[in-house]
Amino acid sequence: MSETLALFGGSKTVTSEFPWPIYDEGEAEAVAQIIRTGRWGNPDCGDVVEEFERAFADYCGARYAVSCVNGSVSLRLALIACGLKPGDEVIVPPYTFIATASTVVEANGVPVFVDIDPETYNLNPAAVEAAITPRTKAIIPVHFGGQACDMDALLDIARRHNLRVIEDAAHAHGAEYKGQKLGTLGDAGSFSFQSSKNLTSGEGGMVVTNDPELYRIMSSLRNVGRLPEGQWYDHFYPGCNYRLTPMQAVLLLRQLSRLNEQTKTRNDNGLLLNTLLSTIDGITPLSRGHGETVHCYHIYIFKYQSAYFKGISRNRFVEMLAAEGVPCFKGYPYPLYKQPLFQQKNFMCYALPETVDYTQVVCPVAEKACEEEAVWILQHGMLGTAEHMQQFAAAIREIQRVVLG
Ligand SMILES: *Cc1c(COP(=O)(O)O)cnc(C)c1O
Repeated sequence: MSETLALFGGSKTVTSEFPWPIYDEGEAEAVAQIIRTGRWGNPDCGDVVEEFERAFADYCGARYAVSCVNGSVSLRLALIACGLKPGDEVIVPPYTFIATASTVVEANGVPVFVDIDPETYNLNPAAVEAAITPRTKAIIPVHFGGQACDMDALLDIARRHNLRVIEDAAHAHGAEYKGQKLGTLGDAGSFSFQSSKNLTSGEGGMVVTNDPELYRIMSSLRNVGRLPEGQWYDHFYPGCNYRLTPMQAVLLLRQLSRLNEQTKTRNDNGLLLNTLLSTIDGITPLSRGHGETVHCYHIYIFKYQSAYFKGISRNRFVEMLAAEGVPCFKGYPYPLYKQPLFQQKNFMCYALPETVDYTQVVCPVAEKACEEEAVWILQHGMLGTAEHMQQFAAAIREIQRVVLG
């Protein structure tokens, strides 16, 4: 153990690197083969994009999958296909990436921010129910960090109030709720293949559904409003060219073959870290046992209490932990409703009602998570060994030992 913390010149607790993405010559060869065909576009690539869509749908246990350029567009396709109209309200959590809420604006809907549960950082079903109005049309549960939302409760609320459920599964490839893959429980499930995500081709997205009508509209929107029965220059819906490329599709096919093993490693490491960190005063891992049979730990999250670290702020603690070699981050600086987009109502051409006002929104659990409590360990770190998890815990204990002097 170092004389002093790494941030102040001591040696690091964790000296391994945690590479991401993981690939070998197979990925390079698959992309090279597409390049050599000269058929670089979609749909002139033959059927590799469809092959990946089929493989991903089968992997999830969904009937249909629509690939697209990223995990924001996939949300937008689902919102539009669900029939969102100007002024319709969509319930979203405030502790998530901006796309969960900004795509609602892009679909002319009104994001309604509902606080998260302090135990899981996922949407709090009781708060969701309390926020429903006659204008509410949909809920976007975000399976934050790869942990399943309380889907029984949310689906029950949706059924009783006739709401659509679009799962934001951008963190949740391969994770499960009561044995069922996330993304397949609601009307549609949206995934991102952006470079930080658990399944990646650098950029890319996918939306899965079991509903043939949603599938038909989403695939049309993704392909400039075309329909299979129309001609090349017949356009039926206000879509755009949001198509995935064959290079991405072959990369994703290779990466998908690695996903199960990687998910198991992250899930096992998460369970181990929970045990290790629970013994440290002032460190509380988010709780499990809310139906998530597989947690894929896109982000491993624990709550930090500065009182047990001599009042050192969460931000300073994260600097110390990162210097020790733990791949960690402090997360979002504030909840989404505090973004300039919402505070300043910079809605540009989008049709949000004049009365919408985000300056009065307060979600105390999300604010606390952002400002002082949440610490993230990133998914590539969760691909380490059990020994690495021991080292992550040792780094936290060492910081505590030094600061308490
Ligand atoms: C990454 C992410 C998205 C959007 O994905 P992109 O592919 O970057 O557009 C949506 N929701 C959440 C929760 C995300 O983390």
